[in-house]
Amino acid sequence: MMASSNLNDSIVIVGAGIIGLNVALVLSEKGHGRSITVVAEHFPGDTSLYYTSPWAGCNFSAISGTDDNALRWDSLGYAHLSKLATECPEEAYVHWTPSFELWDEDVPSDKIQHMSGYLKDFRVLSEVELPDGVKFGVSFTTLSVNAPEHIKYIYRRLRDQYGVRFLRQKLPSIQAAYASPSTKIVFNCTGLASATLPGVEDPKCYPTRGQVVLARGPHIRTNMMRHGKDYETYVIPRPGSNGNVILGGYMQKGVSDGSTYDSEVKSILARTSDLSPEIRQKEPEVLAVFAGLRPSREGGARVDRDEITVQGQKRVLVHNYGAGGTGFQAGYGMAVESVAMVKDMLRDIACEIPQARL
Ligand SMILES: Cc1cc2nc3c(=O)[nH]c(=O)nc-3n(C[C@H](O)[C@H](O)[C@H](O)COP(=O)(O)OP(=O)(O)OC[C@H]3O[C@@H](n4cnc5c(N)ncnc54)[C@H](O)[C@@H]3O)c2cc1C
Repeated sequence: MMASSNLNDSIVIVGAGIIGLNVALVLSEKGHGRSITVVAEHFPGDTSLYYTSPWAGCNFSAISGTDDNALRWDSLGYAHLSKLATECPEEAYVHWTPSFELWDEDVPSDKIQHMSGYLKDFRVLSEVELPDGVKFGVSFTTLSVNAPEHIKYIYRRLRDQYGVRFLRQKLPSIQAAYASPSTKIVFNCTGLASATLPGVEDPKCYPTRGQVVLARGPHIRTNMMRHGKDYETYVIPRPGSNGNVILGGYMQKGVSDGSTYDSEVKSILARTSDLSPEIRQKEPEVLAVFAGLRPSREGGARVDRDEITVQGQKRVLVHNYGAGGTGFQAGYGMAVESVAMVKDMLRDIACEIPQARL
């Protein structure tokens, strides 16, 4: 059971991936930092197959869903990451990056129409600019994120600027998050574990495996993505890494294998070389190979307010999981909406106006 202390436990956030950290950030920005405990088995700096966030590529792209939720969460996420890239790019490990996205078929036209309204420097590529086999392409200025460093940045901010408390514990059930009687709201941000965590056990959750190559290529400055029928290929310069890039990738639905495969490395190197003129100019040196499991969910992410009975009492539970391949680009928007769902309860939780940063 969770250690019960009356300090900082009015709000408990279970999970310290990008989703839980963004919920803590949105609540802290509203003045509730000192009322929050984040409980998790894994924290920024840890690596595990059961902790997806450090493995993300990571960028903002048109890879997300086409439903209204995904469109809203993306636009809020783009605005949030834009602010970080403009105000504190080195500290937050988020950089503005020129980007090209190409589709072989199945162009998500409505979504592109929506995104064109806010993406910086958005332009549809002319036919002569499209490589062979590509049906449609756009360029814009995207945000690229050094995922493992970015989550450490949010963690430091929450701890040092807002007084959020962190507790390392693997909870046996979501009910265990209510160990303290003073806990008023629990946010479930457990990613893929929501498939099996007692009290949640959502059968719609499934993993989508991705393998990526970390390579050294300081001359590679352009984000490139090609969406094919049976493949996803991408090149993402990694901010604040002294010239590393992430080369990908794979989207293997329902696969939960954490191994990495040489045949997949070869395929990634061949596909990214075809895609990126910068890679053809000088082959990057392979440094490491990783595999991660995106926490996918049929019908898209679950952001909703629920009620759960714990020891005969009804308690408030807000779910925020199932972000699939978009936790970094959509996570802040998902957090804004999950926090708005408990607006009525936040009135009764201690609030202090955050200090201006020095
Ligand atoms: C190869 C790859 C590339 C990607 N590229 C991108 C990209 O370019 N852009 C993008 O936006 N996204 C990308 N993603 C997706 C992104 O990484 C995920 O959407 C995101 O990391 C999900 O975050 P999460 O917080 O839901 O889950 P996680 O990061 O897995 O965090 C879950 C948390 O819950 C905790 N937890 C679980 N069960 C318990 C328990 N019982 N008790 C206590 N704690 C528990 C864990 O310890 C952890 O802290 C990529 C993913 C992969 C694998």
